[in-house]
Amino acid sequence: MPNRILLISDVHANLNALEAVLAEAGACDQVWCLGDVVGYGPQPNECIQRLREFDLVCLAGNHDLAAVERADLADFTRDARTVLEWTRAQLTAGHREWLQSLPARPLAAGPDLTLVHASLRDPVWGYITDIGEAKAALDALGDQACLYGHTHYPAVYYRRWDSVQILEAPLPRNAALRLHAQMLVNPGSVGQPRDEDPRAAYALLDLATLTLTPRRVLYDVSATQQRMKQLQFPGGLIRRLRFGQ
Ligand code: ZN
Repeated sequence: MPNRILLISDVHANLNALEAVLAEAGACDQVWCLGDVVGYGPQPNECIQRLREFDLVCLAGNHDLAAVERADLADFTRDARTVLEWTRAQLTAGHREWLQSLPARPLAAGPDLTLVHASLRDPVWGYITDIGEAKAALDALGDQACLYGHTHYPAVYYRRWDSVQILEAPLPRNAALRLHAQMLVNPGSVGQPRDEDPRAAYALLDLATLTLTPRRVLYDVSATQQRMKQLQFPGGLIRRLRFGQ
């Protein structure tokens, strides 16, 4: 029975960020990845290969789907599309097959937790970015906690009496949150944080106590940017990593 889980999301082909997370997190029984392993970043094959070394549960994100023609590139911004086209040409046959196999739906993780890339109402494309969306997601949830990604923004929403509350970024670092029914938790993004903090975001999950600890770790942002420059990726995607935007 796994106990200590490394929870990550939105790696986005940023191997330097992923390695920093893996090094700091230490030994874990399993890795749970909420999707978007590829897209935006310069090392899709390397990130897939690295993640597959672990006992891994991984969902499909919208970028993962688009990278293997399971989603239309027209649904993405121009910059995202540029890198997805490049990614399509880079992926090895084995990694394409792996991306093809990822589930694009919510996944039950034991009796207490549901995992989803985006939201229960729209598992791959929905955005939980405000109280209204959170309330709709909680209405669809039942007596579980839901771990989600996609927004690249660490956040915790929970129902309190008849209202929905938010515990926003910065989440209390290294403080363990007790997970309970009617709670939505986003660990943030490993490879492209958007909460004005450029450090890679992830969380550690203890299944024995059902507690989650949000974490941040510095990584070599300029090394990733350098690779992106060499590949002539769009400037906006390169610059945003420095600012965590
Ligand atoms: Zn993403």
